[in-house]
Amino acid sequence: MHDVIVIGGGVIGLSIARQLAGSKSVLLLDRGATGQATSHAAAGMLSPLSEADNQGPFFQLCRASLALYDQFIDELQQESGLNVAYSKEGLLSLASSEASAATLRQRYEWQRQAGFGVELLLPNQVKKMEPLVTVPIIDALFMPAERSVAPRRLLNAIRESCFARGVEIRTGVHVDAISPNTIHFAHTTMQAASIIIASGVWSGEFEGLKPRIPISPRKGQILSLAMPAGAFRRMIRWGHSYFVPRSTGELIVGATNEDVGFESAVTPAGLGRLLTDALAISSDVGSYPILETWTGLRPATPDELPILGSTAVPGVYYATGHYRNGVLLAPITASIVTDLVEGRDPSIDIRPYSPSRFS
Ligand SMILES: Cc1cc2nc3c(=O)[nH]c(=O)nc-3n(C[C@H](O)[C@H](O)[C@H](O)COP(=O)(O)OP(=O)(O)OC[C@H]3O[C@@H](n4cnc5c(N)ncnc54)[C@H](O)[C@@H]3O)c2cc1C
Repeated sequence: MHDVIVIGGGVIGLSIARQLAGSKSVLLLDRGATGQATSHAAAGMLSPLSEADNQGPFFQLCRASLALYDQFIDELQQESGLNVAYSKEGLLSLASSEASAATLRQRYEWQRQAGFGVELLLPNQVKKMEPLVTVPIIDALFMPAERSVAPRRLLNAIRESCFARGVEIRTGVHVDAISPNTIHFAHTTMQAASIIIASGVWSGEFEGLKPRIPISPRKGQILSLAMPAGAFRRMIRWGHSYFVPRSTGELIVGATNEDVGFESAVTPAGLGRLLTDALAISSDVGSYPILETWTGLRPATPDELPILGSTAVPGVYYATGHYRNGVLLAPITASIVTDLVEGRDPSIDIRPYSPSRFS
């Protein structure tokens, strides 16, 4: 008998288990190995500003999570002994059309007025910062506070930290159904005072939870190139594509966003678009070896907001639906769920994310 059972060992479930282990006995279950599903596919951008058009509640949630990141990473690296390639080099958003330049200028205006240290740059300033960028630029916005992390390293570090804090992790356990304070799998039941559903895009599949939450997959195709040391320093966004350079020498090029169900193939159309955009951002990347191509299924909800809070079943909580921002939102999600399990009001208003909004 554990105090808490967490179902799902992605970045969300592992982060929750790790934080709760400070005060509770925690069992984490995954039907496969931990850290091998959507979280394994992420680019690792921690960038609340780069697509934000106002200071709505979701922006505040993302900012609150980013504010927790320095401490999260410090503790993880100490507890695991692993380097998670955390970068604080910021993000450049580039506009090559009048329409995207207008969007950048609008973002610049509200973000500057709100006190965020954003800078509107001329093309020659971009050239100085990232000399290998070749795309024609009308306007560019630099967001120095945006960050990134290598998700696969992060997942390893959180798992090691979970072990160090006494979390029990069992893999190969496919949970089928949930009833009050109880999980069911393979004709077996286990009980806990609190059960956390952190099963990503599969979180709506459990028997016993009604109504089913509306989570659906959004496929992302993504790839990595081997870049010469220091070729790019900052993240770069251009149109629907981005570069995430890593201190480990990889240049991540992402990502498609496709509504094709649970199909997860890498396709010529998907890769073709990414490579065409990558060459447009910098013709230099044409000679970089392709290291890997892969896909992941983002857990999307109808309003594109996460689902955080109690289910209708006593003792059972959702922490899912993180769509495009699960890596960014892991620390704040862990903090919110810890507050709920320990009977406190979370430090941030979670009503916009209530599971009941879909009832
Ligand atoms: C291409 C791509 C790029 C992305 N880039 C970024 C980015 O730059 N920044 C960012 O913040 N986010 C990014 N994301 C989004 C991010 O990856 C997701 O929001 C996040 O990984 C979701 O994490 P999770 O733990 O909820 O899900 P997952 O990582 O999918 O974990 C869920 C786990 O639950 C387990 N599970 C499922 N069902 C059961 C069951 N019945 N019983 C037991 N275990 C079960 C699964 O095996 C899995 O291990 C990206 C996503 C993609 C696809």
